[in-house]
Amino acid sequence: MDEVVLATRNKGKLREFKNILPFINILDLDDIGYEEEIIENGRTFEENAKIKAQTLAKRTNMPVLADDSGLEVDALNGAPGIYSARYAKNGHDDEANNQLLIKNLKGKTNRTARYVCAICLYYPDDRFYVVRGTCEGEILKEAKGQEGFGYDPYFYSTELKKCFGEIPLEEKNKVSHRFRAIQKIKEFLK
Ligand code: IMP
Repeated sequence: MDEVVLATRNKGKLREFKNILPFINILDLDDIGYEEEIIENGRTFEENAKIKAQTLAKRTNMPVLADDSGLEVDALNGAPGIYSARYAKNGHDDEANNQLLIKNLKGKTNRTARYVCAICLYYPDDRFYVVRGTCEGEILKEAKGQEGFGYDPYFYSTELKKCFGEIPLEEKNKVSHRFRAIQKIKEFLK
């Protein structure tokens, strides 16, 4: 196999995958001219990644990589979880999502959390592989730094002992959930 479709239009994500998987040609949804929306109605990150990858593999007859990621906060029973992008239900608004997260954690002493990324590699003949990468941390009470995106200004990595809002992508990638999941899926692509 020398070509795979990545189920995204996000150029940052495409760059990240290409960087870790240089031995394979990765096409995104714009490259293949795919315009339909894929309904993600799974109950877990893994189910959503599989739904996306399977749908596209069937439509394109090509091997497909799809990911689904988000933040799980223990004191909120795993929320925002698979709803991370639209936690505040205001479209995709990082600022509103962060404000709601901080409000819901007010008065809670346990602030442990993790980023999760599931990736599915799906072949048109129905063989598929699903992997998960995680990254442990704690939710800060106040935002720190301007780096990253989403919940990063409030996410303190217990491994790096730094907030993701304060470090460049190369440093975040040493421990990030997405980086770890891509590393794991690499084995099945070779
Ligand atoms: P998606 O998997 O690209 O749809 O990401 C879902 C959502 O999870 C994003 O919109 C963010 O809110 C959150 N998220 C996933 N990964 C990260 C990360 O590395 N930093 C901050 N937020 C993230």
